[in-house]
Amino acid sequence: MAKPASRLVTDTKRASKQHILENMLSELKLPERIGRLEELANNLWWSWHPKARELFRVLDYPLWRLSGHNPVKQLREISTDKFEAAATDPVFLNLYDSVISAFDADMSDKHSWFSTKHPNVLDGPVAYFSMEFAIHNSLPIYAGGLGVLAGDICKEASDLGLPLVGVGFMYPQGYFHQRISAEGSQEEVYGQLDFDEAPITPINPVPRSKWCGPLIQLNLSDTPFYIGVWQVRLGRDNLYLLCSDVEGNMPQERQLCARLYTADQEQRIQQEIVLGVGGVRALRALGIKPSVWHANEGHCAFMMLERVREEVEKGSTFPEALRKVQTATVFTTHTKVAAGHEVFPLSLVDKYLYSYWESLGINRETFLELGRQDGPSDQNFNMTVLALRLADHRNAVSQLHEKVTHRMWHALWPEVKEDEVPISYITNGIHVPTWVAREMGRLYEKHLGQDVSERYDDIGLRELVLNIPDEELWAVHQILKRKLIGAMVERARQCSTERECKARQVLVMGSLLDQDTLTIGFGRRFAAYKRPELIFHDIEHLKRIVTDRWHPVQIIFAGKSHPADLPSKQLLRDVYGLATNREFQGRIAFVEDYDIHMAHYLVQGVDVWLNTPRRLYEACGTSGMKATVNGVLHLSVRDGWWYEGYNGLNGWAIGDEVDAYDPMLEDKSDAEALYRLLEEQIVPLYYQRDRNGLPHGWVHMVKEAINSIVPRFCTRRMLKEYVEQMYIPAARK
Ligand SMILES: *Cc1c(COP(=O)(O)O)cnc(C)c1O
Repeated sequence: MAKPASRLVTDTKRASKQHILENMLSELKLPERIGRLEELANNLWWSWHPKARELFRVLDYPLWRLSGHNPVKQLREISTDKFEAAATDPVFLNLYDSVISAFDADMSDKHSWFSTKHPNVLDGPVAYFSMEFAIHNSLPIYAGGLGVLAGDICKEASDLGLPLVGVGFMYPQGYFHQRISAEGSQEEVYGQLDFDEAPITPINPVPRSKWCGPLIQLNLSDTPFYIGVWQVRLGRDNLYLLCSDVEGNMPQERQLCARLYTADQEQRIQQEIVLGVGGVRALRALGIKPSVWHANEGHCAFMMLERVREEVEKGSTFPEALRKVQTATVFTTHTKVAAGHEVFPLSLVDKYLYSYWESLGINRETFLELGRQDGPSDQNFNMTVLALRLADHRNAVSQLHEKVTHRMWHALWPEVKEDEVPISYITNGIHVPTWVAREMGRLYEKHLGQDVSERYDDIGLRELVLNIPDEELWAVHQILKRKLIGAMVERARQCSTERECKARQVLVMGSLLDQDTLTIGFGRRFAAYKRPELIFHDIEHLKRIVTDRWHPVQIIFAGKSHPADLPSKQLLRDVYGLATNREFQGRIAFVEDYDIHMAHYLVQGVDVWLNTPRRLYEACGTSGMKATVNGVLHLSVRDGWWYEGYNGLNGWAIGDEVDAYDPMLEDKSDAEALYRLLEEQIVPLYYQRDRNGLPHGWVHMVKEAINSIVPRFCTRRMLKEYVEQMYIPAARK
């Protein structure tokens, strides 16, 4: 971005970012004293630093809210008077100065964990490729947990001082917004991102085109095809987003990267070529020389092929080139069911990659073998298989997932025993500063130390958690619960006044939710294996639990179905329909449009977080970790991370952990176990109060959960493991 002009620019015409670069003039009317607000707004560092968020909040609270907490948009709409007032307000200036100095210290810190602990081990950054990144709501380029993990890793990399560049997509329409009809049908609404109002910056204006940034040329068909690059600043590190909506491309090419996860396989293979091949070329064009290449899931595996091609072009034989690439490549697999892996029919591979095997110096059969799971008769090209073969450093995302992965991929390493399949595991974690509520973060700072945000993985914190007074912890929890219910009621009100929703919709949106009722939350993608309907297995039984006169229970659901996943949409309709059943007395709610913004409210504001995947189907899961750090207890099947996280005292495990071979039986026994836990343990513990209304037993369990879970299931622990177990070995020549 251009440095903000010190004089006041009075021209009200809004120039585009391209315009700004051409004119090298900022359109913002920022007084010099607070001139760095623009720089701050354009680095998403602000999004995980509470004081920086506060700065924008106090600058203009209504606009902060109306902009959806997007300071780039906020700054564009703010009045000159407001700026002038802020520039002379000593309280604001005090906060401004302290935020700017924290920002500068973070940007230039030579004493980070990485530079102190592992100086000079990486010649270049880690290149981290992912189909989706969830950073902040102002950048809707994610669908679910995979993107959240990628976003959290980038933020943690900046915090730890690890040089990392993310590579992903700038989807102008992003993922859809969800509306639910009165009958429970999901409607998908696609927005159009206003690039001027997103926290993204074009790089290197190219004079002959309107596009900013280097143009990367790819040949998907006979005519050249271009992609442009946007930059997102994330603290010290950068994320580069590829976009095909570039002048010179054909209309359907411009549309290619419009949306995340289209159901059309042909578009998907094209997108994945753009990400993999285009991503490598973009980094080269930017002069970035990664020392380690990390693929987050198989969608980006073409990145490995492109690097093999580069080596062959430089004179290596194919086997030599392959070895070089394998050594420096890390691959993380997240999927646990065969259907979840990205697989392309050979016809599409022939169509889009025929010129590729020539440039690799190999024939079609050798090429196809890279992605075939079952030998020469296999009619599919599997992206996970390709990635497993082209990366020496491979990992699953939880202890249990490693076992599942070994079983699933044993055939690729028939010479070793199943438990020796060369795939290790690093359990996922969450970026705590992103997910902890401001109020909760303050409580931690008060009792665990001002520097707690840098020590969430420190097991030495454990004793200190016990020192937090029960009443303080409970009071903060009550505030967060009130915020959640308030947000839901507000949405219900909007629905009823602005969208002319029917009464039952207003009811299902949570208008009758109650602050003092035990509240269970269930929020995640609607996928059949996650069994959102499990708690309705015996409707009469659930009704008795929910509508108990003295100790009632309420449940809040949220989640999107993939637009092409019809069974999941039916599931959503079923759950929604049950929620509208009057006999539940308004105690079951369904929030529309689950995204990271709503996820914050939910994981911070409910009492219990429910997770009921079919066993061995949840690779890891992270939403329960987000809940725990906010003092919300986890009630889950022992699958994914809960297999290693549950210790008998820090939440509840539904059913036993053995494999169930009959899904119907598994549903029945899990549902019964769930009702038993609710009736015998959870409801009594919650409603057991002292004279002041404090549930000490409950709060003690919350502390045990924070103690035993937060240090282990945070990205700080996780990324340190990636550095030490994967990146450093991969960088070694
Ligand atoms: C954390 C998160 C997820 C992942 O939830 P799981 O329960 O771990 O699958 C999905 N979507 C959003 C918006 C999230 O914030």
